[in-house]
Amino acid sequence: MAGFSPNQAFEFLKKLSFERKSGSPEERKAAKIISYEMKKLGLKPRQEKFEVESFTMGTASLEVISPFRKKYGAWPLGYSVSTPPKGITAPMVYVDPLSPASIKAQKGKMILTESAPDAKLYKVIKNSGIKAIIRICPLGKNIYNKFFHGLPKKLGRIRGVSIKYEHGLEIIKRGAKKVRLVSKTTNRKSSSQNVVVEIKGTTLPDEIILVGGHYDSVPWSMGVMDNGAGSAMMMALAAYFVKKPLARTLRFVWFGCEEVGLVGSFEYARKHKRRLKDIKLMLNLDVGGSLIGRINAYATGSKKLATFAQVMGMETGAFRNVTESAVPSDATPLAEQGIEALSLTRSGSSGGQIHTSGDTIDHCGPEGFDLLGKYSIEFLRRVGNAVEFPFEDGLSDNVKSSMKKFMENIGRTYKAR
Ligand SMILES: [Zn+2]
Repeated sequence: MAGFSPNQAFEFLKKLSFERKSGSPEERKAAKIISYEMKKLGLKPRQEKFEVESFTMGTASLEVISPFRKKYGAWPLGYSVSTPPKGITAPMVYVDPLSPASIKAQKGKMILTESAPDAKLYKVIKNSGIKAIIRICPLGKNIYNKFFHGLPKKLGRIRGVSIKYEHGLEIIKRGAKKVRLVSKTTNRKSSSQNVVVEIKGTTLPDEIILVGGHYDSVPWSMGVMDNGAGSAMMMALAAYFVKKPLARTLRFVWFGCEEVGLVGSFEYARKHKRRLKDIKLMLNLDVGGSLIGRINAYATGSKKLATFAQVMGMETGAFRNVTESAVPSDATPLAEQGIEALSLTRSGSSGGQIHTSGDTIDHCGPEGFDLLGKYSIEFLRRVGNAVEFPFEDGLSDNVKSSMKKFMENIGRTYKAR
């Protein structure tokens, strides 16, 4: 019996190793590649288009005016608002952690910080007369930061840029007091798509196991581990199961625009709301492929799912623990609708490169797909062929409270179901 092919997964990954910014022509190109490869397997992919608010990266600079003068490179936060062309001049203060009180105390100033504002803090920033947020990147990592898509949409835009860690350190050490910020970025409407393919179940075709993962990347990054790898894994899983269909239907969904705020999966859950009850379970694959690393598993579901996943993790040697929580990934919009989900990620040191230009194929190889593939096949085979479907309980109370917190952070109201 031919097994799962890590080599094939790695070959698929190579085909997706280019920058695939959310809502961009390159993202569309990746959707075409996935569709093309699925057609070659004899499957019938369909693309479900949706509108998305997107942004161009633009340019920015931060110039210290007093007590010394020096100009630093910066870049606008995604979904921020530009300054006037000549910039804005204001006092700047370093603040960490951000809190409603620490923000309100800086009225009329810019805030230099390492923290990311959640929905509550975003609202305070918006309403407290803060001139701008200057975010310091983690050491050795230039991340293209953005505000979570839903926040500016719901609460209005604020000004913000990122600067390098080294620059933040120098600015703080030298006691910068007053700065001029120039930032130019544009927001625009664009479109994206989820790619969907089905392998019909042999005896229970109306019961669906959804295998999902996002195929877009952040700007500046080829998004190889995050999440070319999960996308490639899904393609290899489809190649495997097309020859060995299960009792239940396997529906593969490659989500667009995850990186700007889980937009593709929220859109999927919204669009298919009436038919979501057919989806019995989700397996979410986000981040993988690295040669050096370990698998982390997250159950956004019942206690039973977490235990089942953990026992299987030990049985296959893939992992030993399962975290029961919401995840900042495409499983969460489905779990919001009551669908239990298991998310698998594989990372180690290389995980530090995610969302940077360092997320390259250099970290990866076929062996990076071994355990994830072995586990995924076995997991899907069991849930897809189960005589009695074991997961009907919905989310545990612990997971529900984790969901509530996550949704609040991104500015949504969570109604447990
Ligand atoms: Zn990801």
